[in-house]
Parts: sequence; structure tokens; C-alpha cells
Amino acid sequence: MLKMEFEQEDWMLEGSCAYSETDLFFPVGSSMKAMKQANEAKAICMECPVVTECLEYAIRTNQDSGIWGGTTEDERKSIRRQYRKTGLVITG
Ligand code: SF4
Repeated sequence: MLKMEFEQEDWMLEGSCAYSETDLFFPVGSSMKAMKQANEAKAICMECPVVTECLEYAIRTNQDSGIWGGTTEDERKSIRRQYRKTGLVITG
């Protein structure tokens, strides 16, 4: 069972995933099924009113698994490198 550790912040209550299945946002492995799951989760993120807050939180608190702010773990690696250099969460 996946154990998620994070501090609750107010914006989390407004997330589009608040009532979605948690597993969708934590795909395991790199199978087609996991990739499809990740894409479904990212599509939900793209409509989420707190996507910016979510991504900033994931970078700031080093969330290294799951989909956060519309990004996968790998996608957050380069964002995290920039964050360490500049203190800013820069995407795109
Ligand atoms: S951006 Fe995605 S993971 Fe973050 S709160 Fe919104 S739906 Fe959830």
C-alpha cells in the first residue's frame, strides 16, 4: 500500500482530484496501463483551479512520486533543478 506523506494545505481542498481515486495519481511503473493512468490524471490537473499551487508545493516539498500539478516525477526533476538554482518554480 502506498503511503503518502504531506502536510495538508488549504488549497488541497480545492483540487480537482480531491474526490478522485488516489491510485489514478500514483501510477506504478512504465507499462501502457501506467502511462494511460498518468495521462488521465494529468488531464484532470489541466482543469484544476489550483494547479500552480500544487506544482509549487510538489517542488518545494520534494514530492518524488505521483502526478502533482500536471507533472510526472521525471518532468519535475528539471523543474526541481531550476528551483534549487533560482528559488522559482519555472515550467515550460
Ligand atoms: S493539480 Fe492535479 S494533483 Fe494537483 S490538486 Fe489539482 S488535480 Fe490534484
